[in-house]
Amino acid sequence: MNPDVLIVGAGLSGLCCARKLQQQSIRCLVLEAADGVGGRIRTDAVDGFRLDRGFQVFLTSYPEAKSILDYEALDLKPFLPGALVRYGGRFHELTDPWRRPFAALRSLRSPIGSLADKLRVARFRSRSLRGTIEDRFRDPETTSLQMLQDAGFSPSMIERFFRPFLGGIFLDSELLTSSRMLNFVFRMFSLGSACLPSEGMEAIPRQLAASLPPGSIRLGTRVVRVGPGAVTLATGEELSAKTIVVAVEGRTAAELLDDNISSAGQGTTCLYFAAPRPPIAQPLLVLNGDGRGPINNLCVPTVAAPSYGPGDKSLVSVTALGTGNDPDRLLDEVRVQLGEWFGTAVQDWRHLRTYSIPYALPTQTPPALNAPERSVRWRSGIYVCGDHRDNASIQGAMVSGRRAAEAVLKDLI
Ligand SMILES: Cc1cc2nc3c(=O)[nH]c(=O)nc-3n(C[C@H](O)[C@H](O)[C@H](O)COP(=O)(O)OP(=O)(O)OC[C@H]3O[C@@H](n4cnc5c(N)ncnc54)[C@H](O)[C@@H]3O)c2cc1C
Repeated sequence: MNPDVLIVGAGLSGLCCARKLQQQSIRCLVLEAADGVGGRIRTDAVDGFRLDRGFQVFLTSYPEAKSILDYEALDLKPFLPGALVRYGGRFHELTDPWRRPFAALRSLRSPIGSLADKLRVARFRSRSLRGTIEDRFRDPETTSLQMLQDAGFSPSMIERFFRPFLGGIFLDSELLTSSRMLNFVFRMFSLGSACLPSEGMEAIPRQLAASLPPGSIRLGTRVVRVGPGAVTLATGEELSAKTIVVAVEGRTAAELLDDNISSAGQGTTCLYFAAPRPPIAQPLLVLNGDGRGPINNLCVPTVAAPSYGPGDKSLVSVTALGTGNDPDRLLDEVRVQLGEWFGTAVQDWRHLRTYSIPYALPTQTPPALNAPERSVRWRSGIYVCGDHRDNASIQGAMVSGRRAAEAVLKDLI
């Protein structure tokens, strides 16, 4: 094939860009360094379990995903819209803080939030739902922590709920992530469910890849140089096309293009265990409200999506923020904390695998989202997309791919 457009990277952004261009009969060739599509959304099969490379969830409310993906085919399995907060030696349930903030805190004669926090969650929710998503990305930008404090949330609500919950989403325990992301997350959780596709998160990029004509994707193909009208591969081979789209993570985009793109990223470590029995019966996220120990959050994917396991065992997914800890020591510390939470049963849990992901999300400390949509035109004939152009989410990556395709189409026609 003699492509009109070469796309570097088969993550969500590159795939969405290719899809949009192919719909307009523009021939694309997607060059992907890895052995499969999906980028940061991959799923491994290990001993009958499906292990996503880092715990993540798909929110059904993402508008871009709604317009592109076939949700039925993904066979989405929802988590309950709440959390179990571990605090003071017990678990405290928060039911649906997003859609029913009053119900959420009624159940808590709890140390997690005050009566006034109920009102604040309700107010926050209705404000996040006003106007369009784009409007909320234009609200004044500060850090998420500052915004929560300015909204008057009690320290207990922030420390015991928001810090582990948002910390687990932004992979940022300091909550220095832009308040515009906080608006976005509040809105998305209020409007939809957090789900896992029954075949694993990788089913999302695979569905997108399947919509492209055969031969559109070349795997195992690393690009080392991008120039006008051509790219050079690690093998030395040169491929040419009038238009190049660079759809790699921010860190690599900074290397391939230039350092006007921030290479800063948030890291995370995900540990998986096989357990004879599920430690919790409901598909809920468990949050560390104590702030002590390595675990930020955990869940049991097989309770939400039984197809994540072999049937006779449960899968436990544990998230510790950051990377760089000694893996054996981290595993020991996680086991100790799991033992405190779930007792001696944890001794029978088998460690399956640990994923350490130094660049899971682009860092979004203000003024990162000062311009919520950064330019996708790099220089003549070269375009750039990826979550670092919009926001660090499945929605952001998909939108950036579509925006890059629209820019290409506008310039070609
Ligand atoms: C652990 C984790 C948890 C997350 N949690 C959530 C969540 O719960 N909800 C949510 O909405 N989002 C979440 N995200 C974010 C979301 O997964 C990403 O924003 C999105 O997948 C990014 O897509 P992308 O196309 O921008 O980049 P990527 O997926 O990084 O794709 C870039 C592609 O380019 C390829 N590539 C890189 N360099 C080269 C090269 N030189 N030549 C050729 N190919 C190259 C890479 O191999 C990769 O396939 C999470 C991410 C991680 C890692």
